[in-house]
Amino acid sequence: SLFLTLSCTKSKDTDKSTDKGQSYRPQVDSLLSLMTLEEKVGQMVQYSGGWDITGPESDNNKLKKQQIKKGLVGSMLNVTSVEKVREAQKLAIENSRLKIPMIFGYDVIHGYKTMFPLPLAEAASWDLDLMERTAQVSAKEAAAAGINWTFAPMVDISRDARWGRIMESAGEDTYLNTVVGLAKMRGYQGESLSDVNTIAACAKHFAGYGYVKSGKEYNTVSIGEHELHNVVLPPFKALADAGIASFMNSFSDMDGIPATASYRLQTEVLKEKWDYNGMIVSDWGSVEELSIHGIAKDDAEAAKIAANAGNDMGMESSAYAKHLVQLVKDGEVDESRIDDAVSRILTLKYKLGLFDNPYKYCNEEREKTSIYTKAHLDLAYEAALKSIVLLKNKDKVLPISKDVKSIALIGPLADDKNSPLGNWRARAKDNSAISLYEGLKEKLPSTIDLKYHEGVDYVISGENFATPLKINTTDDSKIKNAVQLAKSQELVILAVGENAFQSGEGRSRTDISFPGLQEQLIKAVYDANPNTIMVLMNGRPMDISWSAQNIPAIVEAWHLGSQAGYAIADVLLGNYNPSGKLPVSFPQRTGQEPFFYSHKNTGRPDVNPYDIIHSQHNDVPNDPVFAFGHGLSYTTFEYGDIQLDKDSFSKGEFINVQIDVKNTGQRVGHEIVQLYIRDLVGSITRPVIELKDFKKIHLKPGETKTVEFEISESTIAFYTISKKWEAEPGEFKVFVGSSAIQNTSKSFYFK
Ligand code: BGC
Repeated sequence: SLFLTLSCTKSKDTDKSTDKGQSYRPQVDSLLSLMTLEEKVGQMVQYSGGWDITGPESDNNKLKKQQIKKGLVGSMLNVTSVEKVREAQKLAIENSRLKIPMIFGYDVIHGYKTMFPLPLAEAASWDLDLMERTAQVSAKEAAAAGINWTFAPMVDISRDARWGRIMESAGEDTYLNTVVGLAKMRGYQGESLSDVNTIAACAKHFAGYGYVKSGKEYNTVSIGEHELHNVVLPPFKALADAGIASFMNSFSDMDGIPATASYRLQTEVLKEKWDYNGMIVSDWGSVEELSIHGIAKDDAEAAKIAANAGNDMGMESSAYAKHLVQLVKDGEVDESRIDDAVSRILTLKYKLGLFDNPYKYCNEEREKTSIYTKAHLDLAYEAALKSIVLLKNKDKVLPISKDVKSIALIGPLADDKNSPLGNWRARAKDNSAISLYEGLKEKLPSTIDLKYHEGVDYVISGENFATPLKINTTDDSKIKNAVQLAKSQELVILAVGENAFQSGEGRSRTDISFPGLQEQLIKAVYDANPNTIMVLMNGRPMDISWSAQNIPAIVEAWHLGSQAGYAIADVLLGNYNPSGKLPVSFPQRTGQEPFFYSHKNTGRPDVNPYDIIHSQHNDVPNDPVFAFGHGLSYTTFEYGDIQLDKDSFSKGEFINVQIDVKNTGQRVGHEIVQLYIRDLVGSITRPVIELKDFKKIHLKPGETKTVEFEISESTIAFYTISKKWEAEPGEFKVFVGSSAIQNTSKSFYFK
C-alpha cells in the first residue's frame, strides 16, 4: 500500500508540473473568443474589498461595484467573510454578460484566524511536514471564509535583519527557503486546487525585495547576475517547477528596473526560460508606482510598461482599468499579450473549480464550524513548541528545577497577549494569544510562587498594521519595582524583545538591539538576581550581545502565534525538549548587517583577527553571536566521523554520505543534522560553506542512528561563469553537523 500511495502521489505531481494548465486550454480559448477587449482587460484588474459590500458606499466603492457588475473586475482581495464574498461574487455572476467568477485573495501568511508562528519562527523548526500541515490548516480556514488565493509563501532571501519583512521569510539561506517554500505550497494547494479545502499559493516577491539597500523598506536594489541566479532565484524556480499557481512581483527596483516593469524577470526568466504557465499579480499599486519610480510619465505609460513586461494582474490598481483598452487600440500593447494574461487568469479560475460553482467556497455553515477549532489550536501549539530555539543554557539552568520555590516573571512581553500573534495576522482576534504569564500560571505547580511585573512601559501607541509604533524611551520609573521583585524571588524569567508591529512590512530599523528601555531593564534585573532566564520574542535576529555574554540561559521564542504562552512554559519547565535551529545568524552588532553564514572567502579572509588587513570590522569579531543552524537541546548529541562510500563521482552518479549521531544525554530529543558543502575552486567565487540538505531525527537516551545523505550533481551545481546551471569538476568538502560552525570535513571530487 505504501507503494500505491507513492505512485498515486507521483502521478498527480507529474500532472501538476507537466500539465501546466493545458487541460483547460479548450475552455479558456472558447471563453476568450467570446470576450470583448474591455472584458479581457477587466480580468486583469484586482480591487481591494475592504468596504462593507452591504453597507453605505463611497464614490470609489460605487465605481468598483459598477465595474464588477459589468464584468470588468477579475479579482478582489481583503474581502473578509463568506457573506461578503458571496455578495461580491453575486454582483459579477448575476449582472455581467459572461458571468465570469472573481477570484478572492488574502494575505494568509501564518494562519487565517488560528495563528501559527511567524514564517521565520516556523522555519526554525526545520520541520517540513509541520510547515505543510500548518499551511494546510491555514488554507482550510481561509477557504472556509470564502478565500481561494493566498499571497504566500514569501521566499525572498532575507539577509539583512534591519529589513522588517525578514519575519515573513524562512531567513537567510537559499536551500532552506526553497524547501520551506515548497512545503508551504504543498500545504496551501494540496493535491488539487479544485478541492474546496485548498487555496492557490503565490511565490513572492519576484525578485530581489529582500536586498533593499541598508534594509530600508522599499529601497532600491542591486544584485549582481551570479548572486541573483545562485542565491535569490532558486526558491522561485523550484516553486515554478512544482506548479505554484501564481507569482507576485515586487515594489523594489533592481539596477534601475522596477520588478513590475521587468521584462527580463517576468517574461524572459519566468515565463520563457522556466516555462511558467501560472499568473503574475503585481504588488499593491506597484503598476501606478512605476510613475513614482520615475520610469513612466503617467498611469497610462505605467500600465503599458507593466503589461508589456509580462505582469498579468494589477493589484489595487486602476491603471489597467483606465488605460489598457486604449493602449491596445493605439497599438502600444499587443492584444496577444492581453490574451496571454487573461488565459493565465482564467486557467486558475478553472483549476479552482469556480466555473463549476462560483459560490463553491461560500458555505456559512463551514465558516462557523471549521475556523479556530480545537484541532487547529492544537496544531498551533505543536508548531510553537517546535519553533522554539534554545540559544544558551549555561550550567543547565534550564529546564527550571523542580526545587525552585519562587519565580519573578518580568518584562513588557511577559503578559502581552497581542505580540505573539505577530504581524501579518490576517483575521486573528487582537489580544487572543496565550501570553507567557498565562502559560506559566496554567503549567506551574501551585506550590511555586509566581509574581509578575512588566518592568517598563513599552508601547505608547500604534499597535496595528497601519500606523508607526511609538515606543517609550524616557520613562524608566517602573524598573525599580521590577528590581525589587527580582531580588525577592529565587529565579527570574525576563520576557523581552520586539512588539509584533516592530517587524513586518514598513517596519525596518537601523538598530536591531532591544528597543525602548529594555536593555536598561535587563541589566538592572540581572544585577539584582543573576539567576535569570531570558525569553526573547521577536521577528528578526537581534543584537543581544550583552545578554548573550551575561545571561545564563536564553530561549528564542519569536512571535509564536495563538498558543505561544503554553509552548514557552512547557519548554521552560522541561515538559518539552526544544529542537529548533536558527534560520538566521545573530550578529554582534547591527553594523555588520547584512550578516549571513554563506559569505565569500574574499582575497583576505579573517584568519588572524589581530591583523588589520583582513576582511573584518575593527570593533567586533566576525563570529556570529549565535550561528545559522544553532540550537541546543536538553540532551546532548555526539557526531561520529563522516563516511563517504567513494571520494569521487561523475555525471549521473552519486556519493552516499553517512554519519552516526548518538544521544549522549539523559533525555529523548530531536536533532537537526545539517549537511554543508564547500566548492574549493569555481569559475566564480564560491561561498565558504552552503547548506545542501538536512534531516530531523529522534533519539532516545543512549541511542545511535546512522543518518544518510546523497551528494549528486544537483548538490554541487550552480550558475557558472558560462551562465549555465551546471556542476564544475574539482574538489569539494562536505561538512555534517549541528550548525553552520563546522570543524571537520571530508573531501570529494567531481570528475
Ligand atoms: C505587500 C504584499 C501583500 C500585498 C497585499 C503589499 O503591501 O508587499 O506582500 O501581499 O500588500 O496585502
